[in-house]
Amino acid sequence: MKEDSLVIHEIYASIQGESTFAGLPCTFVRTTGCNLRCTWCDTPQAFHGGTRMARGEVLAAALAKGTPLVELTGGEPLLQPAVFPLMGELCDAGKTVLVETSGEADVSLVDPRVHKIMDLKAPGSGESHRNRWSNLEHISSRDEIKFVLADRTDYEWMRAVVRERNLSARTPNLLASTVFGKLAARDLVAWVLEDALPVRVQLQMHKYIWSPDATGV
Ligand code: SF4
Repeated sequence: MKEDSLVIHEIYASIQGESTFAGLPCTFVRTTGCNLRCTWCDTPQAFHGGTRMARGEVLAAALAKGTPLVELTGGEPLLQPAVFPLMGELCDAGKTVLVETSGEADVSLVDPRVHKIMDLKAPGSGESHRNRWSNLEHISSRDEIKFVLADRTDYEWMRAVVRERNLSARTPNLLASTVFGKLAARDLVAWVLEDALPVRVQLQMHKYIWSPDATGV
């Protein structure tokens, strides 16, 4: 059955680099495959390949890392039906479970114990037309909405979406981050302050730690 196995790119422990869980030790279960092609995607290596594993094997490997936090990411994890029962099993095992999803995939069947971190794709991604707006009906205060911004046009798009769709009434966790190396975080901070926009500016911490350009200071 398609719920019995998944194609996995990698399972590893690191720290959570973004979201309100940033900085916490986390086990990442990265699935293979994505149906979008964001211009700035930083994980194209997860589009293809991977290893098919039984769901039980994936669960055991994730639990073996021992972190209280486990994140399903990709690629796009929700493309694989086995991810849904896997997330439930991780919750049953006492884990705090996060899923990073593109905003295109339907989130309505995600276990309510899971924290959804859902992108809304801005125009600079090239995939803005793929946003599944009905997903917003399934976003609650335990979930997070993430915008990745490449330029001022993307910022203004986010500002309009936040205001017109009254997103902060759904969740206080509205995350705004920049495409690494493309938009200066200090510009984003200035714009957010100027507009008193209710978003949390975040840096992709893992990139500052492990980028070849990072100074480590
Ligand atoms: S949705 Fe995520 S994995 Fe897919 S192309 Fe966009 S950034 Fe890459």
